[in-house]
Amino acid sequence: MTRIRLTGLTKVFDGGVTALDRLDLTVEPGEFFALLGPSGCGKTTLLRTMAGLEQATSGTIRFAERDVTRVAPGDRDVAMVFQDYALFPHMTVVDNISYPLKVKGRAKPERTARAEEVGRQLGLEALTARRPSALSGGQQQRVALARAVACRPALFLFDEPLSNLDARLRLEARGFLKRLQRELGVTTVFVTHDQAEALALADRIAVMESGRVRQLGTPREVFARPADTFVANFIGSTPMNLVPAEVEGDRLRVAGGVFAAPQGVVAGSAKVTAGIRPEYLRLHDAEPTDAPDAPTGTVSILENLGATTLVTVDCGGESLSAVVPEDAEPAPGSRVWLTPQPGRLLVYDNDSG
Ligand code: ADP
Ligand code: MG
Repeated sequence: MTRIRLTGLTKVFDGGVTALDRLDLTVEPGEFFALLGPSGCGKTTLLRTMAGLEQATSGTIRFAERDVTRVAPGDRDVAMVFQDYALFPHMTVVDNISYPLKVKGRAKPERTARAEEVGRQLGLEALTARRPSALSGGQQQRVALARAVACRPALFLFDEPLSNLDARLRLEARGFLKRLQRELGVTTVFVTHDQAEALALADRIAVMESGRVRQLGTPREVFARPADTFVANFIGSTPMNLVPAEVEGDRLRVAGGVFAAPQGVVAGSAKVTAGIRPEYLRLHDAEPTDAPDAPTGTVSILENLGATTLVTVDCGGESLSAVVPEDAEPAPGSRVWLTPQPGRLLVYDNDSG
């Protein structure tokens, strides 16, 4: 298992776009690591630079203790899976899977045996004689994975490998990919713009923006404690509540009332942004006795999320949303009070995003 260490990694394209900006990052041996961020933030460039398909402008890339910054792609011992799979259309499945072994000069019987073994492992045994055009999207995706697995690389680099699958298949493929990575124990960097996918798959996530890492942490950490309002906005399947607030001693005034300020809040200024996930906000149908002056407002919108409901409350000009179980759904137009679950209210300085 291989550790990846990136130090001061910078990529400036001809024409002046800085796609990676002095990036420092360590991926631990055997880790399933996600690079998450909006389109254009540099995820693909980072992966291609690790694979050697792009030259770093400055900085270093180490795999284990080996400096590979100037090493040719074929000598880096990595396998990359691309978003469009990049299968060879004129080759059969078995030839596609064994192609990297051919490039490495392995004899045909060994190549075929390995390709068939990996094909079985990935459930492709009935398809080995077909060409890619005779496969479904999900099957093509597995062939691309099999090709990566067959060369037993030290690292997997995956660039949005699930994004061309339909929603249902994408969920299945997630579980499949996770099991495969666990079984093989190969250090994996997985690029996605889909926050749910990163949360579901990764041991740790780097949230990127403009060629830099905004936050690094476990899925739980980046979900529960986003480092800034950019990350807060990007993570979560329902948008995080981010509302203007004013620090008043140990209280936080927001539209519609006050919250108890989180412990140890030292705001750079009295004017801040309060952040609370809808999942962590409780609704009450009367003013809670242990939270006098809790924000109050009128229920305006109910959105069905399946077993839960997203409730939007108009609080004196601002909206706050809470997720409640379906059987605790308030009536539209009714008055409610809101309190954060203990430890869940966050405070951001207004220049943090
Ligand atoms: P992502 O994969 O996160 O969507 P990319 O790594 O593809 O982002 O792109 C990062 C930035 O680098 C973008 O501004 C993009 O336009 C630019 N870029 C990517 N590839 C090239 C290239 N070959 N030449 C010039 N600019 C590029
Ligand atoms: Mg990309």
